[in-house]
Amino acid sequence: MQIVKAKFIEKIERTATVCSFRFAPQLKVFFKAGQFLQVLFNAENLMDRELNKFLSYSNAPQDDYIEVTKRLSASKFSDKLRNLKIGDEVSLKGPLGNCVLAPNHNEIVFLIGGIGVTPCISMLLDLANNNFSDYEINIFYANRNEQEIAFKNEFDELVKKYPRNLRIFHILSECNISDFDCIVGMIREDVIAQKIKDIHSKYFYIFGPPAMVNAMKGVCNNLGCPKDKVISESFIGY
Ligand SMILES: Cc1cc2nc3c(=O)[nH]c(=O)nc-3n(C[C@H](O)[C@H](O)[C@H](O)COP(=O)(O)OP(=O)(O)OC[C@H]3O[C@@H](n4cnc5c(N)ncnc54)[C@H](O)[C@@H]3O)c2cc1C
Repeated sequence: MQIVKAKFIEKIERTATVCSFRFAPQLKVFFKAGQFLQVLFNAENLMDRELNKFLSYSNAPQDDYIEVTKRLSASKFSDKLRNLKIGDEVSLKGPLGNCVLAPNHNEIVFLIGGIGVTPCISMLLDLANNNFSDYEINIFYANRNEQEIAFKNEFDELVKKYPRNLRIFHILSECNISDFDCIVGMIREDVIAQKIKDIHSKYFYIFGPPAMVNAMKGVCNNLGCPKDKVISESFIGY
């Protein structure tokens, strides 16, 4: 793990409140999809939790840039990101974490909520550069409404490219099913059991805010998933 300086090169609006920020690092950073980094707006004081925050990589490890994606809030850290100008320099500490795809996990169910999408999209983009066709992936992606689905176009393109390997179920609390192909409500046992056959052979990867991750662990438990097949990372700070 290292601290590298990186130049801000691009901002991409994913939804009205979620933006991706791309940086060109001074040195190549070798990370694994699923890992995260710490963006340091106060590199002199690493203990400054207000200006130094953890964000997951949201791009493929093979890219020559680093991308992170943040749900922008009223916090000072969000303001710092919002106010970045092209060419501004930031410090990035990482890679951190070990919630990455294990080599023998080929049948995967992702349970993700809101901004918990970031490690998942990084993993899919990584597989798209490698051996996606060796995988069977189902994603249950919970959001409030269609407008809040970050990376929707990227998911649509991947499903088009790998129709036999990838399915995505949009679980929305506010949705008119005649307008959009979604499941209304929350990610629940019955929703998963209806879509996934042979649940016990699957590996469940859960990402999202702590309350959501805890709820999904309960869902997996109720489905009878073996504990060693449930892998999770909580986005502490939500
Ligand atoms: C492994 C990991 C990966 C993450 N990946 C992403 C990502 O890809 N995208 C993303 O948007 N966010 C991610 N987060 C969360 C991110 O680090 C921020 O905590 C979150 O975005 C809220 O920051 P904020 O500045 O908007 O809100 P703030 O206003 O700073 O915080 C929101 C609330 O959380 C509380 N809080 C803040 N920090 C902590 C903390 N460390 N422990 C407990 N409570 C805290 C605050 O008191 C406040 O009530 C990740 C977190 C972790 C741990």
